[in-house]
Amino acid sequence: MKIAVTGGTGFIGGHLVKHLINQGHEVLVISRSAESKVSGAAVVSWDEIEREPARLEGVDAIVNLAGETINQRWTRPAKERILQSRLKAASRIADAVSRLERKPEVIVNGSGMSIYGTSEEDSFDEQSPARLTDFLAAVVERWEEAAEAIQVPRLIKLRVGLVLGADGGAFPLMKLPYQLGVGGRLGSGRQWMSWIHIEDMVRLIDYCIRNSQLSGPVNATAPHPVTNDDFGRTLGRVMKRGHYFPVPSFVFKLLLGELSVLLLEGQRVLPRRAMECGFKFKYPNLQEALENLTAKKRRE
Ligand code: NDP
Repeated sequence: MKIAVTGGTGFIGGHLVKHLINQGHEVLVISRSAESKVSGAAVVSWDEIEREPARLEGVDAIVNLAGETINQRWTRPAKERILQSRLKAASRIADAVSRLERKPEVIVNGSGMSIYGTSEEDSFDEQSPARLTDFLAAVVERWEEAAEAIQVPRLIKLRVGLVLGADGGAFPLMKLPYQLGVGGRLGSGRQWMSWIHIEDMVRLIDYCIRNSQLSGPVNATAPHPVTNDDFGRTLGRVMKRGHYFPVPSFVFKLLLGELSVLLLEGQRVLPRRAMECGFKFKYPNLQEALENLTAKKRRE
């Protein structure tokens, strides 16, 4: 297959491109810069796609992962960049696809589990309604709406959980206090963490592309979410370090402002659609996922 990936220079996109190339697919990365280097893939800029949409002719699937990082203080201008970068990527894809002779069969549009809002009591699957409890939930809802303008037979709204990888995303930072021997729960420790191993993340994207039964919302989270306290205990055990130093909520609120919601609140999100369709997680449980990720780092 020929597959276009936006955000292919990023953490998830980089792993995805490698995986797709290993599976024998031809990959075209769409980047802000045509100079971006992605091993094994051709690169084209957004501007080139806008000028010449035919560059996407023959593409069977598009995976859209582009967007300004959310890991920054959510000042008013930052919030605008976080939202607008996602709306713009979706609308540029919609425009290019509308001008193609032969449309791709499927688009996998990155999205987020924040759309379910936060809760310590409830569990959410793809049938749960959107609850716009914070800034990120509203961003995700608008991002999904923007993607609906893309004219393809199958639109997958991939509601991504906390992606754990040894070389990117939040995990290297989460591990740091345990390496220093000062790990502990964050805030109350009761907040849910719906995580997924990076390998399962890219396998699930690949599965969504190939499985014609899947369309609409698909949660990209492992089947066994944990609370923040359990996450820390498991990480401490795997790294043979303690889990003794809780950090109170106010520290994060002072340091990070509104962004602290990502650490102090969470949601228990279950991958019902993926499981119904027969997707098999390689890392359904946190302990094995963390053992794999910490061993990988030691080997490097
Ligand atoms: P990264 O930040 O690693 O990569 C995102 C990519 O988007 C970059 O490589 C860049 O590609 C492009 N990009 C960055 N800023 C902008 C901008 N202002 N305008 C347009 N494009 C931009 O993200 P991840 O790989 O971690 O995540 C991919 C998507 O999944 C993101 O939208 C993220 O919000 C979402 N997600 C990620 C989670 C995680 O745990 N990692 C959890 C939930 C959702 P280039 O420079 O080539 O243009």
